[in-house]
Amino acid sequence: MQFNIKQFVVFIVLFLLTVLYVIFSDYYADQREQTASAILSNLREDMSEIGYILSKNLHKQEDIKAHRAILDRTAANNDFISAIMVLDGSRLLLTTDPAFLQVPKENQFFRAHEQTPYEVMRQAGSFEGVIRYYRNGELHRLRLVFVVDKGEVKTYLNYNKANFLVYLVFLPSILVFLVWGLFSVYVSQPLEKLKNYLLTGEGAPKPFKLKELDTIRGIMEQTFARLAQEQKHLYKLARKDSLTGLANRNALHERLEKIIEESKTKERQFAFLFLDLDLFKSVNDSLGHHIGDELLKQVGKLLKRTVHRNEFVARVGGDEFILLLHRYSNVSEIIATIETIQRDLSEPFHIHNHPISISSSVGVAFYPQDGKDFVGLMQCSDIAMYEAKKNGRSQYFFYTEQLNQQVQKTIKLEKEMQLALDNDEYQLFYQPKVDLISKEIIGAEALIRWIKPDGTLVPPSDFISLAEENGFIMDLGKWILEAALNQLHEWQQKGIKIRMSINVAARQFLSGDFDADFKALLAKIPVDPKFIDLEITEYLFFEQNKSNLHILQSMRDLGVTISLDDFGTGFSSLSYLKKFPIDFLKIDKSFVDDYDTEQGAVFLETIVRMAKSLKMGVVAEGVETETQVKYLEAIGCDTFQGYICSRPLPVEDFYRFLGVNHQNSCTTQKLDKF
Ligand code: C2E
Ligand code: CA
Ligand code: CA
Repeated sequence: MQFNIKQFVVFIVLFLLTVLYVIFSDYYADQREQTASAILSNLREDMSEIGYILSKNLHKQEDIKAHRAILDRTAANNDFISAIMVLDGSRLLLTTDPAFLQVPKENQFFRAHEQTPYEVMRQAGSFEGVIRYYRNGELHRLRLVFVVDKGEVKTYLNYNKANFLVYLVFLPSILVFLVWGLFSVYVSQPLEKLKNYLLTGEGAPKPFKLKELDTIRGIMEQTFARLAQEQKHLYKLARKDSLTGLANRNALHERLEKIIEESKTKERQFAFLFLDLDLFKSVNDSLGHHIGDELLKQVGKLLKRTVHRNEFVARVGGDEFILLLHRYSNVSEIIATIETIQRDLSEPFHIHNHPISISSSVGVAFYPQDGKDFVGLMQCSDIAMYEAKKNGRSQYFFYTEQLNQQVQKTIKLEKEMQLALDNDEYQLFYQPKVDLISKEIIGAEALIRWIKPDGTLVPPSDFISLAEENGFIMDLGKWILEAALNQLHEWQQKGIKIRMSINVAARQFLSGDFDADFKALLAKIPVDPKFIDLEITEYLFFEQNKSNLHILQSMRDLGVTISLDDFGTGFSSLSYLKKFPIDFLKIDKSFVDDYDTEQGAVFLETIVRMAKSLKMGVVAEGVETETQVKYLEAIGCDTFQGYICSRPLPVEDFYRFLGVNHQNSCTTQKLDKF
C-alpha cells in the first residue's frame, strides 16, 4: 500500500484530532459533573439551612408566613432557585413567587445518588426537603420545595460546552488549517515544483525554505546545468570537424538552410565555393598522415582568416572545403577573395620543419541560379571545381550551363565507353619502335582506338583519363592486355620477333590482381615474356608502398621489360629510378620537340647520359623529323618512335608496313630511309 504525502498528512491530522477529541470529551464530561455537583451541593446547603431554621422556629403552621423573608432572601440569592414553596401535603402554604403555585413534575428528593449529579441536574425541575416541627409534642411535617431555575442551570452546565467547542473544534480546525497551509507552502508545492522541474527540466524553482528540499533543488539545478552543457558539447561535436575545428557537413547543412531562407526573403544571392587541395593525397602518402593533418589544420585557419568574420567555412571531406560568401557587391570581389586564398595557400607551409607547397582548385556556384539547395549547389560547385582542376593547379572556375553540358557529355561518354567494350568497338593500333643504330624495327607500342559503328575514331586522349578516373580502366586494361598478348602470339607464330609494348595505367597496375591476372593470361596465351614490354608512368611511384616494387620485380622475373613512359613530365624526384627495376626511359615528345633549343638539348643529353649510367635504354617519343633522328643518334639515344617512321597502324597495315604477308615471315625489318 502506498500513500501520497497529502494522504499521509491528512491521516496524521485525523489521528491527532481523534486523540484530542477523546482527551477533551473526557475533560468536558468531568467538568460538567463537577459543575452539576457544585450546583447540587449549593442547593442542598440552602435546603438544609432553611429546613433547619424553619424546623427550629416553627411552632404552628400559621407562623410560616412570618418566615417568608428568609425564604425570599434565599431564593433571591441563589441563581438556581426560581421559587421556594412550602406545602402541607398538596396544599400550598407559601410561595416566594406567585408564578409558581404548583410543584413541578420532575420533583426530586435529595436522596441516594443512583444518578450522576449531571443527570440529576439535567432532569430535576425541583428539589424537595422536609420541615419538621413539634406542636404539642406531636411531630408535623411540611414539604419544602425549591423550584429550580432550569434556564440558569442549563446556562451553567453549557458554559463549558462553549469552551469545549472552542477547544475541540475551533482551535484544532485553525491548527489543522495552519498545518495544512504550512505543509502546502513549504512541502507540497515545492515537491510539485520539483516534480515538474524534473520532468521538463525547465523553470527552475526559486530557493525553498526547507533545507532538504532545497538541497534536492540545488542538486537538480546542477544536474540540469551539467546536462545542458553536455548537450551543448555534443551539439558542437556533431557540427564540428574534429581535425580543423571548422564546421562539418552537418553544420553546413544547417547554415545553408538558414542562408537560403534569408536570401529568399531578401531576394539576394550568395556564392558557394568548393575548394579542393591539389595533390593533397601525394603529401599524405609521401610525408605521412600526421603532416597531412597538420597541413589541413593550417589550411583551415588560413581560410577562416581570409573570409569575413560572419562568413562560413566548412570542411566536408579529406581535403575539401566549402565557403559560403555573401558579403560582396560584385563578382570581382569574389574573384579577389579566391585569388587571395590561392596566393596565400601557395606560400609554403612549414610543418614539422618540412616546407610544403600546396595549391588549390576552386569551383564557384551561385544561389539561386545554379542551385537551390545543398545537393544542387554541391553538384554545380563540384563540377566547376573539376573543371578548374583540369586546367592545372591553382585555378578557379565558375559554374555555367555550358560546363554542365560538358559534364553531361562526360556522363554519356562514360556509359558509351563501357558499352563499347561489350560491342567490341575497341581496337589496338601498333606504332613501330626503331633502333637508332641498326634502323631496324625492334618493337611496337600497342595504342588503343575506339572505332564507333559509324566509323568515327575516338582517340584515347578523349577517354583514357576518364576511364582512369572512374575505374573503367580496370576492365579496359584487361581487354588491352589480352588483345595485345594474342597479337604478340600471332606475331611469334609468324616469326616476327619484335617486342610488344603495352601501356598499363597506374591504377590497373596497382589493383592487386594485376600480377595474378597477368600470369593467368600467360598461362592461357603461350607467348615468350621476353617480348613483352610494359609501359608505366611515374604516377606508379606516388604510392610509397612495397606493392609497386613487388609487382615490378615479379614482372621482371618473368622476363618482361619495363618502360617508363612520358619521362620528365611527372614529379621531379629521381630517387625511384635507382630503387625500381626499369629497363627503358621513354623521353616525352615535348622534350624531343625542344631538341634544338639549348635547354632542350641539355636536358636530352643529360637524360641519355643518366640512363646509360643506370644501364637503361632510352626511347625517344614523337619523333617527326629526320634532323631529330640524326640528333638523337648523335647523342647516343637507342630507340625512337614517331610519325617520321609511322603513325600507329591497324594490324593489317602494320603487317604491310613490315612487309610481311601470311606466308613470309621475317625477324626484323630494316628501314632504308634513315
Ligand atoms: P603515350 O603512351 O605517350 O603514347 C604515345 C602517344 O603519342 C600516342 O598517342 C601516339 O599516337 C602519339 N605519337 C607517337 N608518335 C608521334 C609523333 O611523331 N607525333 C605526335 N604528335 N604524336 C605521336 P595516342 O595513341 O593518341 O595515345 C595517347 C595516350 O593515351 C598514350 O600516350 C597513352 O597514355 C594513352 N593510351 C593509348 N593507348 C593506351 C592503352 O592501350 N592503354 C593505356 N593505359 N593507355 C593508352
Ligand atoms: Ca606509351
Ligand atoms: Ca609517352
